[in-house]
Amino acid sequence: MRDAEFFRRWMAAAAASVEREADRLTELDSPIGDADHGSNLLRGFTAVLAALEAEPTAAAAPGAVLQLAGRTLISTVGGASGPLYGTLLRRTGKVLGESAEVSDAELREALSEGVGAVARLGGAAPGDKTMLDALVPGVDALGTSYRAAAIAAENGALATVPMRARKGRASYLGERSIGHQDPGATSSALLLGALADVAEPEGAR
Ligand code: ADP
Ligand code: MG
Repeated sequence: MRDAEFFRRWMAAAAASVEREADRLTELDSPIGDADHGSNLLRGFTAVLAALEAEPTAAAAPGAVLQLAGRTLISTVGGASGPLYGTLLRRTGKVLGESAEVSDAELREALSEGVGAVARLGGAAPGDKTMLDALVPGVDALGTSYRAAAIAAENGALATVPMRARKGRASYLGERSIGHQDPGATSSALLLGALADVAEPEGAR
């Protein structure tokens, strides 16, 4: 079973890997975006950690941790990714409800609803060259293991390179979006990689 502390560790690991990879995320957002994805997420996840630290009792259950993280991303990230990642975490947290501990099966189900909420909000589907190209295969692979999910998400991010963007800022480029890896799919792989690192630490790299 996974308790609130596990979800706090997930958010801390996500923040650390966003910090490590912020420059790369911003570089990926240069040719097909506005070069702010790394700084957007760095600002967002720094605020998430501060919010979780400020609310040790309010966020004492898994669902509450994710809902606070999601609200914080929505309020601190100006780019498209803020409301999208915020919705992912809020919806997932809401589905987890108020239980003090959740099972891996419950988390998998909740995350899949969270990804559904991202798809509805952004009107995107796999193949559109967005974060969904990492999130959908990643969450599908959670049935195998957390590490399998992280790997599927990384492969999903790599698979965005030949895609033509149909949603978000990159879609304005049309054909010229082809040949570049989507920054949001890349950060989604980091998020699931951070989850695998805390859930299956023996598999951590
Ligand atoms: P902005 O595009 O506003 O500058 P970011 O640079 O932070 O925001 O995030 C860009 C990422 O957001 C894209 O790489 C893509 O993965 C994701 N994204 C943009 N629009 C959508 C959408 N409609 N649905 C899903 N993901 C999207
Ligand atoms: Mg951007």
